[in-house]
Amino acid sequence: AFNFSAGPATLPEVVLRQAQAEMLEFGDAGASIVEMSHRGPEFIAVASQAEADLRQLLSIPEDYAVLFTAGGATTIQALLPLNFAAPGQRADYVVTGHWGKTAIKQASHCIDARVAASGEADGFTSIPAREGWQLGADAAYVHITDNETIHGVQFAAAPETGDVPLFADFSSSIASAPLDVRKYGLIYAGAQKNLGPVGISVVIVRRDLLQRPGQPRADIFNYASLAARDSMLNTPPTWNWYLLGLTVRWMLEQGGVEHFAALNARKAAAVYQAIDGSGGFYRNAVDPAVRSVMNIPFFLPDDTLNARFVAQAKAAGLLALKGHKAVGGIRASLYNAMPLAGAQALAAFMADFQQHNG
Ligand code: PLP
Repeated sequence: AFNFSAGPATLPEVVLRQAQAEMLEFGDAGASIVEMSHRGPEFIAVASQAEADLRQLLSIPEDYAVLFTAGGATTIQALLPLNFAAPGQRADYVVTGHWGKTAIKQASHCIDARVAASGEADGFTSIPAREGWQLGADAAYVHITDNETIHGVQFAAAPETGDVPLFADFSSSIASAPLDVRKYGLIYAGAQKNLGPVGISVVIVRRDLLQRPGQPRADIFNYASLAARDSMLNTPPTWNWYLLGLTVRWMLEQGGVEHFAALNARKAAAVYQAIDGSGGFYRNAVDPAVRSVMNIPFFLPDDTLNARFVAQAKAAGLLALKGHKAVGGIRASLYNAMPLAGAQALAAFMADFQQHNG
């Protein structure tokens, strides 16, 4: 079966099989990886290899710290203002869908979080032109969501924000294609789409930004403290970190982000062609210039067909295609672990379904 879930998403089968074996005994350690101390040599080796591999995969420069954090991307959204903005300071949010709204909601209680631009008026089907963004030179940061998982809207390139650092939520697009880390002050992602299992997240942050005083906060919420202690202020989610490491290694072995960019483009093209070539039976409302490569929401001519589509797809081995309730319709998520054959099988199913229901 092919799993089109928006997250938690499919992990590569080889990763799951290796994890299955090492769940019982890690190497010749006589214990499972989940039973080992996070301060012991075996786990330290796993953790540092995962960081080294992630640095290689994403070409992360040395002047950026990589943090592995417990909690999800939403937790990071709440911690960004505490770590990088003074109390009441302005920060600018470009809202291009549901997750941009979540980000600003998490921040507004302690800073002056402004909507610098929003795609809400057109139902989040486009990204407002950069010229129209209301940015303040005194903002602590500009926040964007690289890929909106629910609305299927993705930035084609990192926008320029001058001297104000760009912070980006890459939860559903990290490692899907090459990116220039230097264009960003901070990149964050929950792991559960392209990087591994839910329960661990990654923050890639320019080290000079860690010097910002931020706001009064417990040490456990302090990213500078976390960086100084290699993300081990307390017991980290070791199993998730280990699985993330296996997944990142698998991506390197497959050919890295260049390989996935080419593969993902072919997968997305197969599904968008099935939509665009259906003579209007299937519809995707997103501006083609900013259509997501990872998450493709689309609609059938009549909402009453949704349940039949999802059930028949499931029977054909195409799982989790129900659209998010905020948008409705159908959604196909095509993360890195989805093979081309999965996208092609979906496209063939769509043609068949149209023939019987059109
Ligand atoms: N940001 C984006 C782009 C997401 O897709 C998600 C979850 O799907 C989140 C944030 C929230 O992540 P979490 O559930 O890890 O808090």
